[in-house]
Amino acid sequence: MGARLLAVRMLLVEDERRLTDVLAGGLAGEGFAVDVAHDGRDGLWLATENAYDVIVLDVMLPRLNGYALCAALRAAGNWTPILMLTAKDGVHDEAEALDTGADDYLSKPFSYVVLLARLRALVRRGGTARPVSITVGDLCLDPAGLRCRRGDVDIALTPKEFAVLHGLARRPGEVVSKRELLAQAWDFAYDGDPNIVEVYVSALRRKIDAPFGRTSLVTVRGAGYRLEATP
Ligand code: CA
Repeated sequence: MGARLLAVRMLLVEDERRLTDVLAGGLAGEGFAVDVAHDGRDGLWLATENAYDVIVLDVMLPRLNGYALCAALRAAGNWTPILMLTAKDGVHDEAEALDTGADDYLSKPFSYVVLLARLRALVRRGGTARPVSITVGDLCLDPAGLRCRRGDVDIALTPKEFAVLHGLARRPGEVVSKRELLAQAWDFAYDGDPNIVEVYVSALRRKIDAPFGRTSLVTVRGAGYRLEATP
């Protein structure tokens, strides 16, 4: 046998041991160096400590689910390509997988050959493009650097303030409910008072509106909030 090309470093996060054994064995023969984590917390730790070329991530995992793991990596600025294994075959699942920052997904049960082809495509393509900046009027948000500007003025936001504003700025001019903002900005398991969002909206108004004489962050009674482009 000739010398192998450099192995593709892959992290497999999946709690079904039979599946991880079969996949890790098969992929090793295809030139992948596979690390395996059997729960979400171990997966997050490995993904944070090591540099991988690609991550295969199951959605249903003990201790931390795949969506939360993916979102945590992206929030930390880790853009390793992620292929998510969704349990159900449904539009909701794939939309959610892609919305939390996965690059691709496969519904279980999947074909090994298809998985291999998708993995090779992801590795070829490399890391995800960083999320692009969002502009609403002269308000500009840069999710990769958690930066915010109004015109030429930099505005310092806390990560939570940024997350709330980002949730609004992704859908400018539309009403976004407190629940939706909660789901985006807080832990997936957060079940506290949705009125916490009001606290952050007030803080945001003091930072992005008041100093500039604007009222871009509008309360829509009983429905939520809307971010408008102001002149
Ligand atoms: Ca699972």
